[in-house]
Amino acid sequence: MSTQERSMNCNDFNLYTHFRTHMEARAGKEFLCTGEGRSISYEEADQNAAKYAQFLSDLGAEPGDRISVQVEKSPDCLFLYLGCLRAGLVFHPLNPGYRKGELDYFLHNAEPTFVVCDPTNLDVISPIARSAGARHAFTLDATGRGTLYDGACNTDPGFDTIPREPNDLAALLYSSGTTGVPKGIMLTHANLLRNTEALVAAWGFTQNDRLLHALPIFHVHGLFVAIGCALMSGASMRWLQSYDARQVIRFLPECTVFMGVPTYYTRLLSDPSFTDEVTANIRLFVSGSAPLLQETFDEFESRTGHRILERYGMTETNMNTSNPLDGLRKAGTVGPPLPDVDVRIVDDNGVQICSGEIGNIQVRGPNVFIGYWKMPEKTAEDFTEDGFFNTGDKGQIDNDGYVTIVGRAKDLVITGGLNVYPKEIEQFIDGIDGVKESAIIGVPHADFGEGVVAVVVPAAGHQLVEQDIVGACKNDLASFKVPKGVVIVDELPRNAMGKVQKNVLRESYRDLLS
Ligand code: AMP
Repeated sequence: MSTQERSMNCNDFNLYTHFRTHMEARAGKEFLCTGEGRSISYEEADQNAAKYAQFLSDLGAEPGDRISVQVEKSPDCLFLYLGCLRAGLVFHPLNPGYRKGELDYFLHNAEPTFVVCDPTNLDVISPIARSAGARHAFTLDATGRGTLYDGACNTDPGFDTIPREPNDLAALLYSSGTTGVPKGIMLTHANLLRNTEALVAAWGFTQNDRLLHALPIFHVHGLFVAIGCALMSGASMRWLQSYDARQVIRFLPECTVFMGVPTYYTRLLSDPSFTDEVTANIRLFVSGSAPLLQETFDEFESRTGHRILERYGMTETNMNTSNPLDGLRKAGTVGPPLPDVDVRIVDDNGVQICSGEIGNIQVRGPNVFIGYWKMPEKTAEDFTEDGFFNTGDKGQIDNDGYVTIVGRAKDLVITGGLNVYPKEIEQFIDGIDGVKESAIIGVPHADFGEGVVAVVVPAAGHQLVEQDIVGACKNDLASFKVPKGVVIVDELPRNAMGKVQKNVLRESYRDLLS
């Protein structure tokens, strides 16, 4: 990179431009190596990103256009993400488990210019993409081959990354509220850049690190946190297609950092071959996306000598808080706010409350998204006048500034690190023949942390069995959303205001999945 280009970078917020400084310094060195041994250098990664950027731009995709991507994890999916950054396109990743009805909503809402899907799903997605206004649906399979790859292969690997302003969109990720309508979360180049820089500094990432990457890449954790830290420091990655405890145990000895959801850690602990020898080379274990139980933290420490570093974030805000790299990591807490991030606890009237008291967590900082896609009213509702975002989480801050999350105001169920929004499933189940109403709750599950349970009231004169509900859900919903338990009841408990008392249901059925 020339001096002139370097000085221009200061004003360029394109995340890729900042990654590229590290990529160029590490050009011939390994960027990632798959579980099967396919090694890719930083130089190749840069060229592959350029090919996807060039190919999509040649076809007429312009900065700000959305590219919706529902594919299995592969290095090529990662290069496609990087190509989108380079070309100023807005990367819109989708969980590969989403089915027709879900895709219909996402694509019509995001209105992508191009859609990329697994070849096995092309017949389902093509008509939806067309009716949502996309110009074409390309394919990319788990090995990184498909029509997108074929097209990109024939393009020139040179591409001038398009400069971006701080508020230009880099990605659109969907979440859902309790209203059941998924919301598009607009993440800017500045959001991702500032948060990645903060994490690299907070967690001491350097080019000497090797990250064991086992997370999915359609979510903030695997895509922005894990990959971002590697690219922003010139570190390398051992890249697993999916989480598998045996594979993790196999590769941990050659790595220095591991990131996972709590389920990953409980699964490691249940494998007798997971010993302190396996973790001897690791300098940092990070956990997030769901609460890490104190017993998991303690067992992990006694088995390996490592204190897992727990951090807290969400799609809307990237990472907000982190236990320290050096200093006390307090089990059950998610640590103090990251530099430049303000976290405060307020009561239901928005008034800040004293340390130690439980209230609503609000966050402000360069990490916080700029709003919900096409939902200005919802955006206005969730931000305060002084720029804080209402996370919907309940928590407290202790005298040392450490944050503890005590619950989720929004009744979110987190199963194996993935979010399930009860309202969405309830609406679906309520539409099944013979169902009067339903309530979705999360109850303790040894493997997934929480498991989805449906409490269902049959319509008058109807009889239902568990399979009626589970069978219908399996046809139309991603498997992580399908209830692991169904209870048929005569009526749901309600409070004086007519609200279903989910706390009562959780208590009644807490042992259902254990
Ligand atoms: P997502 O938007 O999918 O990343 O989910 C965000 C939600 O996950 C947050 O609002 C929290 O409720 C929860 N979450 C994330 N990290 C943690 C953590 N370390 N402990 C407890 N809950 C967490």
